[in-house]
Amino acid sequence: MSERYARSIADLERSKKSLAGGVSSNVRLGDKPFPLFFERGTGSHLWDVDGNEYIDYVLGRGPLLLGHTPPEVIQATCDQMWRGQIYAAQHELEFELSERVSRIVPCADLVRFGISGSEAVHGALRLARAATGRQTVLKFEGQYHGWLDNILYSLSPDPNRAGDALHPAALAESAGQFSGTESHVVVLPWNNIPVLEEYLAQHGTTIAAIITEPVMCNTAVIPPLPGYLEALRDLCTQYGIVLIFDEVITGFRLSLAGAQGRFNVKPDLTIFGKAIANGMPISCLAGREQYMGLIAAGKVGHGGTYNSLPPAVAGAIATLDMLERDGAAVYATMERTGGRLMDGIKQRAAKLGIPVVVQGYGPIFYMGFPTTEVAADQAVYDYRSSLAMDQELYTHFVSAMVDRGVRIIPRGNWFLSSTHSDADIDQTLDAVEAVLAETI
Ligand code: PLP
Repeated sequence: MSERYARSIADLERSKKSLAGGVSSNVRLGDKPFPLFFERGTGSHLWDVDGNEYIDYVLGRGPLLLGHTPPEVIQATCDQMWRGQIYAAQHELEFELSERVSRIVPCADLVRFGISGSEAVHGALRLARAATGRQTVLKFEGQYHGWLDNILYSLSPDPNRAGDALHPAALAESAGQFSGTESHVVVLPWNNIPVLEEYLAQHGTTIAAIITEPVMCNTAVIPPLPGYLEALRDLCTQYGIVLIFDEVITGFRLSLAGAQGRFNVKPDLTIFGKAIANGMPISCLAGREQYMGLIAAGKVGHGGTYNSLPPAVAGAIATLDMLERDGAAVYATMERTGGRLMDGIKQRAAKLGIPVVVQGYGPIFYMGFPTTEVAADQAVYDYRSSLAMDQELYTHFVSAMVDRGVRIIPRGNWFLSSTHSDADIDQTLDAVEAVLAETI
């Protein structure tokens, strides 16, 4: 292994001396076999500094829906870069993009742009508190909504500390989180309406917002059970709670109109990031006028030096242009190639007699090895059921796949782009079979 990754190993050692941990996001500390250094990417392929080539299913952890460096997006971004980087003022691309988002996204009466998903989530929660006069936010165990203090709870909690699966404690994910926040965050299991109904019957009028990924992408890409999102919508309306769909991963990936378009359920506020500009840094907070109007009126604070950065906005317009123009082909390609990959993994594993869970959708799916015999359908339906997966075994699998030139995420999600070809899928399936035969 050391020969294959010689330069990355040396780079990491050097980097650690000046960059904390040698990485710029703690998520990357968990990369397998270790945090590698990359040099360039095109379409579905990526090259590291040692010259190793990979079929990439990480895709920047979601943004690269159109693959690495699509010429139209790069051209639009660079053209704007030469015209002007930042004005700290309005520009015409800005409303071109907000008009487009409003047209595409069902709940987006009004829109604001920022840089990261985390800060857009922060804005949505602040709006919900301001609009309702309530303090408490309800989130679901196993979901991630960014790294900021008021919501970084119970992404991967130790069940022994979190307690009762139906009424888990809200556990901070990081040392140093503001300690008064717990009382303002309630955590419940996802995909469970009876538990939510019971909780809201007692506390519904104290809850400002329910925030959820409409598909639980950050744990096992868990689809909502039939009727779940609709029931969330109804309960929020009943108790005057602001429903927030965090579409940072699902946005523009599960359909042009995100998960809210795919499942036809309209939240009050929503957050987009990642795929909106195919890798340029821009996020979007959008929603009903009743709420976003509080920002428009200057009552709720929202700011940022880099908000609506012209090159990123140009990149987003180019991305959405391509998705609006070629969307049918883009989404059909990802559903088909991703579907082939999901089916192929199941078939190759079955041939070797290895139990495997594969669930989700063509554009994003999950793969894991169950520690116990579980049903093939809806094997993982919430965070606690995801703990039946053998994470250590999957980690070995990931390292061996990377060694064979297929780059995947240790947490189990696989991202597809419109540039993944049938040849990529065939090569990936051969690698899957070889690794399963060797290491499992
Ligand atoms: N929400 C979800 C669902 C995410 O997956 C992420 C990041 O992965 C975020 C919010 C935070 O976005 P960012 O990393 O851009 O701050």
